[in-house]
Amino acid sequence: MSTPPFDGTGQDDVLGWAGIQNPPSSARTAGTDAPHSPLPAPANAATAAAVVAGGPDDRTAGLTIGVDVGGTKVAAGVVDGAGTILAAVRRPTPGHSSEEVADTIAAVVAELSAEFDVRAVGIGAAGWIDADRSRVIFAPNLAWRDEPLRDRVSDRVGLPVVVENDANATAWAEYRFGAGRGRSDLICLTVGTGIGSGFVLGGELFRGAFGIGAETGHMRLVSGGHLCGCGNHGCWEQYASGRALVRLARQVVADDPSAATAMLDACGGDSDRLTGPDVTEAARKGDPAALHCLTEVGHWLGEGMASLAAVLDPDRFVIGGGVSDAGDLLLGPARARFARVLPGRGHRPMAEVVAAELGGQAGLVGAADLARI
Ligand SMILES: [Zn+2]
Repeated sequence: MSTPPFDGTGQDDVLGWAGIQNPPSSARTAGTDAPHSPLPAPANAATAAAVVAGGPDDRTAGLTIGVDVGGTKVAAGVVDGAGTILAAVRRPTPGHSSEEVADTIAAVVAELSAEFDVRAVGIGAAGWIDADRSRVIFAPNLAWRDEPLRDRVSDRVGLPVVVENDANATAWAEYRFGAGRGRSDLICLTVGTGIGSGFVLGGELFRGAFGIGAETGHMRLVSGGHLCGCGNHGCWEQYASGRALVRLARQVVADDPSAATAMLDACGGDSDRLTGPDVTEAARKGDPAALHCLTEVGHWLGEGMASLAAVLDPDRFVIGGGVSDAGDLLLGPARARFARVLPGRGHRPMAEVVAAELGGQAGLVGAADLARI
């Protein structure tokens, strides 16, 4: 679960990943007269509608508000039982006070609930959440340290509130309305600055005994490898993430600038300003150096997925996050390496590796849906 402890989504802006995710598909805005920031029209409304075709239940009845709290922004939306965003608002995440963050969450909830009859609030937060879904144990990019977020917000808004890890909420949204529909066991990886991940196992969101499981970005893959913000060396996200991609690309540029002209052009000739999207853009133009970088990161992604498959045996990996904007330039090498190192390969079923469908709104939609449970 979780955006990685020291590489949460809030830091995605640093490397230029913010704003390049695919638009939401079934996580969408219905109607053109929504009072707040309409989002793009649905791409697969029929599919999302099918989710509720079996009739309403506790998970589909009524409207809830999902709030996605990252290091830089608080995004909130009114979401119905089919994963449709009816209205959305966004505010900057206030500086250093947990009270201010709670005030901002309460303000967006008040704004949205003034126009919609909502029954609960789900908060997806970039941090470690306790098993009761009430407290943020630790959030590296926010002011929260053992923060009683659920009660702090509930007291302000007068509605039931649940708190969930943002990557868990994203996984849940993909399971319910996105690329994991109809699957019982999926692993959702959000490859941004670091790796956020969530597991749905047997149709249930996996949290672990203390609520902080599924931190796959900090699986140690390389003995004595790169130092990670968590304090260990060789964590997966040091090799398969936006940060890893940029580090590798800058090294490639430094080693042989003449072979990396497309990436240098993309960053105005200053490799210190090279971003992940710059690498993706150069790769899309066929630049061999940029393609090499994405291939390398994809291979590392596949390495970790094979280990995860050895433990959890999912039927599908769903890959999202800013780096996945590179599409098959990343997923192709990931699939290839996954198939090459999967234990028992050739003698067992293979999990599919597919792109996420819900884009940057998935955390909000998933948090809203989890508030119904
Ligand atoms: Zn780590």
